[in-house]
Amino acid sequence: MASKSFIQSLPKAELHLHLEGSVDPATLVELSRRYNTPLPTENNRYDVTGSGDVLTDEDVRRLYSYNDFNGFMLAFKSVTERLRSPEDYELVTYRLMQKLRQQNVVHAEVYVSVGVIRWRGQPVEPIFEGLERGRERGQRDFGVSLLWIFDAVRHFGPEAAAEVFDLAARLRDRNVVGVGIGGDEARGPAEWFRDLFKKAADNGLRLTAHAGETTGPESVWGALNIGAERIGHGLAAASDSELLEVMAQKQVPVEICITSNLRTGACAELQEHPVRKFFDNGLMVTLSTDDPAMFQTSLNKEYEIARQEFEFSDEQLRELARNSIEASFLPVEKKLKFLSQIDFLV
Ligand SMILES: [Zn+2]
Repeated sequence: MASKSFIQSLPKAELHLHLEGSVDPATLVELSRRYNTPLPTENNRYDVTGSGDVLTDEDVRRLYSYNDFNGFMLAFKSVTERLRSPEDYELVTYRLMQKLRQQNVVHAEVYVSVGVIRWRGQPVEPIFEGLERGRERGQRDFGVSLLWIFDAVRHFGPEAAAEVFDLAARLRDRNVVGVGIGGDEARGPAEWFRDLFKKAADNGLRLTAHAGETTGPESVWGALNIGAERIGHGLAAASDSELLEVMAQKQVPVEICITSNLRTGACAELQEHPVRKFFDNGLMVTLSTDDPAMFQTSLNKEYEIARQEFEFSDEQLRELARNSIEASFLPVEKKLKFLSQIDFLV
């Protein structure tokens, strides 16, 4: 079988996927017709609208073309400003699941930036109802399984994170499977969240952390030391052989997002990306898109990059797909069901 159709046919899970980063340009234009908020300006770079103008496709194209972390954060902020009502969240969830179906993604664990929603002063509960409506419709129409992960913002501090995690605990029986910490690693060290992670785990929540994306290996050590079960990005581990050994030995899943790392500048050159090194060192590598619409990528494209640029064979791509199911927070019977679909694919 030709590799492209093999990748398409492969049942996959996506474990590092931000809802806000999945809002495609057409949907953002549509949302902008509902609300008119000027886009962020930085040296006039993003000053693409007159105040109150409805966005055009070209405006969004420019907003989504950046090549550093700052530009990305501005675009992310601009999207969140246009996500307001429960209906907005329902719409973007449903459209995300439609796109997942097209990639043959059978299961996704989706980050919602609840820390940002709260910071913006939006009430989370009605928004969550919109999210769940979108998820239910998406599951019914596209057969995609989806669980939520509530993401707190590291640099907003532990008190703000505590509120996010408490909300997650309250909604645990409604498909909220875990919590995460994202945002600025340097300004929000993992150690701040040690007690909160313990409490979240006691409440039955699973734990993830963005770590080693923009800072050094100490940030990955920090995340592991407070009990993170999966590491988002983890690039910095490449420079710490002891850390690589521990991650391989403990089979800590690492959520690799190659295109994202290039677009934010977390990784300067494609050939410097450690995905192959991690895999060859026995780490449990999974592939994800992070923010597919904002980085103009898809999960199949990420697999394609692994194949073309890093010489993953079809059998190794199959192993990545298996890893994505094994590293998910699904109950074991569902994992077995998806794993057997992967194994039976010829
Ligand atoms: Zn991320």
